Amino acid sequence: MKRSATIALLAMLLPLSTAAAQTCDVGPVAVQILGSGGPAINRFRSSSSYLLRIDGQSKVLIDMGGGAFGRFGQADGKLTELAMVGISHLHPDHVSDLPALLWLSHQSRKEPLPIVGPSGNEAAPDFQTFLNRLFDEKTGAFQVLGPVLGAKLGTSGGGVPLKVSVVDVAKAQASTVFDADGLTVTALGIPHGPMATLAYRVTTKGVSVVFSSDQTGTNPNFVEFAKDANVLIMHLAIPAGAKNPLHAAPEVVGRIAREAGIKHLIVSHVGPFNLDPAIAELKTAYSGPLTVGADLQCTAVK
Ligand SMILES: [Zn+2]
Repeated sequence: MKRSATIALLAMLLPLSTAAAQTCDVGPVAVQILGSGGPAINRFRSSSSYLLRIDGQSKVLIDMGGGAFGRFGQADGKLTELAMVGISHLHPDHVSDLPALLWLSHQSRKEPLPIVGPSGNEAAPDFQTFLNRLFDEKTGAFQVLGPVLGAKLGTSGGGVPLKVSVVDVAKAQASTVFDADGLTVTALGIPHGPMATLAYRVTTKGVSVVFSSDQTGTNPNFVEFAKDANVLIMHLAIPAGAKNPLHAAPEVVGRIAREAGIKHLIVSHVGPFNLDPAIAELKTAYSGPLTVGADLQCTAVK
């Protein structure tokens, strides 16, 4: 059995409380799935979250859905190692464990933490407003975190200041949101029904990983954004034959992977439906390497 499959199987068999750390040292650049599920209650899948590892360090965290906080611990993730956190959009299955991650963060980290999220619209606030509503020390839902985080731009309560960037999802071109130490991260707005959503592309050591997040698959610029990626993680959120105003059909997922010319497709954000027909539909449009994601699954990016 391949190591990635073994790790995924262990994650399914072991409850969060007893599972040993499942690190992901399979090469200089690796991606580990912290949450391979969507919003539905799922016995084995946490909600959406991904960790990009560089030289074994947990460098880029994309999304923090429900259950991902526990998986971050299982994966031996370290706040001190994070270069940045990227949030795709403000549905709870992508961001609800963010307060859990940041609470007590000041005990292990002193440097500012770059964190990126989407601009707002009528369906959701912009990411800065969202953080203020959560963490403002006087009016926030978790006001106790206000002095810890300094969630407002340019302020610090003495803990881990969040260095917040908000990306305009309506912009046709990708925005560079991080570029330092040989690591470049770009973000592009993608359609997900009424929600403002971001896809991320992380490039380092000559390889790239693209995190599609939830999307309808109707932004033609996404194919260019994902072009020639070594790993593309697409969300397979709806079953074969289904139509949904928020999510791409399996065939569309496959078509985007084919048109982008990526080297390895991982499907994630898997819903509680019969997977085999969905994979069969996807394969009508894409015949390259394909992996069905699972929590703590670890993939070398090459
Ligand atoms: Zn979702």
